[in-house]
Amino acid sequence: MKIKILGCSGAEFPGHNPPGFLLDDKIMFDAGSLTNVLDNKAQSRIKDIFITHAHLDHIRGISFLADNIIVEKRKQRVNIISIPSVLKTIRKNLLNDSLWPDFTMIPDYENAVLKYMELKAGRLLKINDYIITPYKVNHSVPAVGYLVQDSNKRRFFYTGDTGPTDRTWKEIGNKQIHCLIIEVSFPNRLKDLARTTGHMTAQLLKKELSKIKYMPERIFITHPKPQYLRTIHAEIGKLKIKNIRLLRDGETIRV
Ligand SMILES: [Zn+2]
Ligand SMILES: [Zn+2]
Repeated sequence: MKIKILGCSGAEFPGHNPPGFLLDDKIMFDAGSLTNVLDNKAQSRIKDIFITHAHLDHIRGISFLADNIIVEKRKQRVNIISIPSVLKTIRKNLLNDSLWPDFTMIPDYENAVLKYMELKAGRLLKINDYIITPYKVNHSVPAVGYLVQDSNKRRFFYTGDTGPTDRTWKEIGNKQIHCLIIEVSFPNRLKDLARTTGHMTAQLLKKELSKIKYMPERIFITHPKPQYLRTIHAEIGKLKIKNIRLLRDGETIRV
């Protein structure tokens, strides 16, 4: 599997894009970065967008993609996929015909540009050759991470935004995660803030990794606040864990 990192920041500044991960040119995980990075042709290949949670930095690209499809008169149709509570927030607060047009009714319901697809936490979905399972994580709003398995049984797990969680790792159980994309938003000294907002520090991450049954082959850090990037980088280094590093906007990783 090839994952292009359109954005992996916990905030937005030039050169620091919000989260958006493109799997094999077709499937998006989160849409904080999408139309701000992909050209028209790349945008036209997207068929499915899996959303971890409804915070703006993870969903905003949905709105601009839908608009582009209509303006370009493309036949492209896109599924917006998540657990019901996440889709409800998007429906009510983003695509509500007030903040942005309801593209699930444009041009009409049958032929709509966007379609909501509900997932149940813990239940797998087969899509092309992938098996994708959402697992509940621990954030300030309802949120899931996604475990993705390809036909060669290679797996990656993208946590989205999460604080410490026992449940997630218990539910994933003894499934080997080959590549873990996990968030660290704050430096160690802001541990309390991280906990109350449902985020991680390097120290909290270390404890988290001890809960995983089989250590992932590689660990990539996403969602650092750019203001603390240097500190977080240093603190991750001090963990002395093999094959762990911060992701970079624009790079491609292979699982
Ligand atoms: Zn969030
Ligand atoms: Zn976020």
